Amino acid sequence: MTVAIAAPPLGPLLHDLVRNHRPRRETGSVPANIPFLADVPFNKFGIAVATTSGQVFSSGDADVPFSIQSISKVFTLAMALQGDTTGRLWSRVLREPSGTPFNSLVQLEAEHGIPRNPFINAGALVVTDHLMEGTYDAAAWVLRFLTAQAGISGPYIDEAAAASELSGSSRNLALAHFLKDFGNLKRPAEAVVENYVRHCSIMMTCVELAKAGLFLAGEGRGTAGPVLSPSDAKRVGSIMLTCGMYDAAGEFAYRVGLPGKSGVGGGILVIVPGECSICVWSPRLDGKGNSLAGTAALADLSDRTGWSVF
Ligand code: GLN
Repeated sequence: MTVAIAAPPLGPLLHDLVRNHRPRRETGSVPANIPFLADVPFNKFGIAVATTSGQVFSSGDADVPFSIQSISKVFTLAMALQGDTTGRLWSRVLREPSGTPFNSLVQLEAEHGIPRNPFINAGALVVTDHLMEGTYDAAAWVLRFLTAQAGISGPYIDEAAAASELSGSSRNLALAHFLKDFGNLKRPAEAVVENYVRHCSIMMTCVELAKAGLFLAGEGRGTAGPVLSPSDAKRVGSIMLTCGMYDAAGEFAYRVGLPGKSGVGGGILVIVPGECSICVWSPRLDGKGNSLAGTAALADLSDRTGWSVF
């Protein structure tokens, strides 16, 4: 990781990114299976950077809460690894890019109920099931974890968004029932999907998410102390790089060169190892379910700062 000597100061740079990347007209799509999220104004755009030295920079709508959706999968994986000293989780989910859409059923059937990675929906359902061995209300546990890492009591579960998604969850239920049939789900499929949808429906701001992700940039040490061992923090970052953007992981690595995790709420969390954690949010999505303006802004940011793992 290198920081270009000529990188401009971060505050003005973030303001400039907001000026250049905030959408001026409506392009892109809204998540098909969560009608509630379609109402978020298309021209929202926020960005925040939390540094390992304890500083936070932000601009635009960085203090507006949004639905974190699949960004929760980074944190549920970290939580599962925290208690998994024997590697049990890794007998139930692989660590390979899927090359398929995040909610695809085909691969799960062909590969006998072992999801390709923890960031596609099937893998995240297995991780949620794993967390439910610790407490049945895994979503509340995820919320407590995120609140502690963000260092403020801002995060909350948007129950209306969760209900909106649950009413159209046929595909996630199908994945859960497939997993159950293959013996890779311990709790009832309905209960796992409900917990999964509720932790996806956590509302956070860019500033809160950037702070919550700091442990991934800081060798496992977050705002509230150690979260993961340095090796596990490195591994979560590696899975973000290879699997964090689903079937656009290669394109994102090409354009941004950093480990990232997106959500269909329009947020993207990105890690610059040793330096900082970045969260960008803009709600309209590309065809793979990743924020259009968010990805463009991150490509610009990495070009202008030299921040990259390559
Ligand atoms: N809750 C969403 C779903 O299961 C999360 C998807 C995403 O953010 N990619 O479809």
